[in-house]
Amino acid sequence: MKFGTKAVHAGVEPDPSTGAIMTPIYQTSTYVQESPAKHKGYAYARGANPTRNSLQKSLAALENGKYGICFSSGMGATDAVIKLLNPGDEVITSNDLYGGSYRMFKRVFEKYGIKFHFIDLTNAANINTVINAKTKLLWIETPTNPLMNIVDIEACVAIAKKNDVIVAVDNTFASPYLQNPLDLGADIVMHSVTKYLGGHSDVVMGALVLNDEKLYQELHFIMNSCGAVPGPQDSFLVLRGIKTLHLRMERHCINGRKIAEYLKSHPKIGKVYWPGFTDHPNHAIAKKQMRDFGGMLSFTLKDDSIEKATQLMESVELFALAESLGGVESLINHPASMTHASIPKEERLKSGLVDSLIRLSIGVEDAEDLLADLEQALNKV
Ligand SMILES: *Cc1c(COP(=O)(O)O)cnc(C)c1O
Repeated sequence: MKFGTKAVHAGVEPDPSTGAIMTPIYQTSTYVQESPAKHKGYAYARGANPTRNSLQKSLAALENGKYGICFSSGMGATDAVIKLLNPGDEVITSNDLYGGSYRMFKRVFEKYGIKFHFIDLTNAANINTVINAKTKLLWIETPTNPLMNIVDIEACVAIAKKNDVIVAVDNTFASPYLQNPLDLGADIVMHSVTKYLGGHSDVVMGALVLNDEKLYQELHFIMNSCGAVPGPQDSFLVLRGIKTLHLRMERHCINGRKIAEYLKSHPKIGKVYWPGFTDHPNHAIAKKQMRDFGGMLSFTLKDDSIEKATQLMESVELFALAESLGGVESLINHPASMTHASIPKEERLKSGLVDSLIRLSIGVEDAEDLLADLEQALNKV
């Protein structure tokens, strides 16, 4: 089945009792049983809920995986993966990571005796400099947030597999429409469903998708034991959002390209970070592992000051100044003071995240209106 057909149909069947074409919201905490040892596959809603189950099947299909597990947020999903580890285990990850993941790794899990190596993963060979017998997990994010670096998933997997290391990929920025890490050899795909999958800025949710049955059992056990599960109403909203994922992504990509090209040719703009440019340092890998280049991009102003950046962000009218991404509406964000504020300044600057860097999540509006908004705002700075 092709992607768009899966987006509309996978995991979803007419309700057996009424024929309702939309999956009902099973707003229930428990299920009545016939006898103590006999139930219809549902005992208590932390463990399973039919609306959530439909969504999990849909997500698994979109990522070409066997199993999907939903969590109450993207961080809840990431938390479950790290809980596979034991004290003394080591993790290799990127030095250009979603701020919340960095914060969780450093401030929550290091004190449980798990060691994290933050390295430049845009060169997969760097893994060899830190990998050792204690390394249990490689955590990849690509494209990276907010610098739009591309990590070669297949190259990383090749090194990890030789060393028996689990590979997990945060696929939030690409969405399953643009990139399917399991097909490239990864063991686990993580999504902040909050972003493109939900797509309408009305849900916070996370998910893991994988193929290995044993790993699935372990993660399902953690999900049920720790309890970071989403509710049925949110599961319904995401099921509904997914039905247009391919249509939205097509428009995000078209608009993203137009705005990236416009900014690149603008005299007041410094650098534009977008993997679709042929002179982007990892363009070839992006082209190899992604279907298109998405609607996320970042840029700096030639006049690299926080004042000018702030002025621009206050001058836009259609772009909303907000955290998050992947919704139908265009957003503008200042990583240094918003999404990435929890990363110490020296660390930020090391990876090129300067004070004037601005990130855009390009929505599905008409590109002409978005361009006009940027034009009028740039005229004011
Ligand atoms: C938003 C985001 C997360 C965290 O997801 P939540 O749903 O906000 O918990 C993780 N990774 C990336 C790349 C994100 O953009």
